[in-house]
Amino acid sequence: MPSSAEANSIIGIDIGGTKIATGLVSREFHVVERAILPTPRDASAERVLEQIYRSVDAILQKSNITKSDITGIGVVAPGPLNPDAGVVISAPNIPAFKDIPIVEHLQGRFGFPTRLENDANAAGLAEALFGSGVGHDHVFYTTVSTGIGTGIIINRRIYHGKNGTAAEGGHVTIDFRGPVCNCGRKGCIEAYASGPALARRAKERLAGCEGRSRILDLVDGDLERVTPVEISRAAEEDDPLAIELISETGEYLAIWLGGMVSLLDPDIVVIGGGLSLMGERLFSAIRERLPTYSINPFAKDVPVVPARLQRDVGILGAAALFLEAKTDEVLI
Ligand SMILES: [Zn+2]
Repeated sequence: MPSSAEANSIIGIDIGGTKIATGLVSREFHVVERAILPTPRDASAERVLEQIYRSVDAILQKSNITKSDITGIGVVAPGPLNPDAGVVISAPNIPAFKDIPIVEHLQGRFGFPTRLENDANAAGLAEALFGSGVGHDHVFYTTVSTGIGTGIIINRRIYHGKNGTAAEGGHVTIDFRGPVCNCGRKGCIEAYASGPALARRAKERLAGCEGRSRILDLVDGDLERVTPVEISRAAEEDDPLAIELISETGEYLAIWLGGMVSLLDPDIVVIGGGLSLMGERLFSAIRERLPTYSINPFAKDVPVVPARLQRDVGILGAAALFLEAKTDEVLI
């Protein structure tokens, strides 16, 4: 468990496309109160901000905490955003939420020190500090879900790059002729291995399938209902197509992660998000093949493990922003 003289209770806010999850995180880094409100997706930016304020008010009321016990507010949102300026540039699925100086707004409203970060970066930091990456300085984190997000933690700090926009690993291509990604480019790993990409590959295979697959039984023959959940369940029942699809997903991720290991030489690779719940079948496929796709001679020794912080990773990630290692000291 990390210790920090400045750590007291922290409010963590996770702004998502469907919900705003806010929590009070204790000094032991447990989420002790939660307020989950729907995101007013199509409302004005002011309405979205009001909903965020309301979630913080709810936490303050529920927890009966005095303001002096709060170290600050951490807030995470999907990118792009500028963590230094505290500005959300745009938020996928919330069209009106553009160029919002959210740190300034929250500080003005509540008076606490406030920090902003990309959600995947913050989740990576949280996994490094109190999840599966504990004890490691260099962590490559990825969340494989509706999309693929990544966070690069170097020396227990988030790597931001020049503009704060580094670590868009989900949009690294593994085949320039590949399928078109949500970002408009071709062959990004997200277009191969995200949840919707897996479902798409399953549907294509099932549409041309001569034999039967248990996946079809699980959706009553309705291809449109196929999701990774049914594929995972069918694999547990030894369905050959489902097993093949998961193994293939493992190979795509191994190709990509092999490159990441060549580039970063991390202590550990931590995989979160919905697809990480597919368990050992997916992870062993990745571990088995990753070394063949990396030039790093130590690739076979890099642990590839599931994330530990599941439901609360957004809130904990936001709170972790107040525990990030400081390397601002001048060395020369
Ligand atoms: Zn992409």
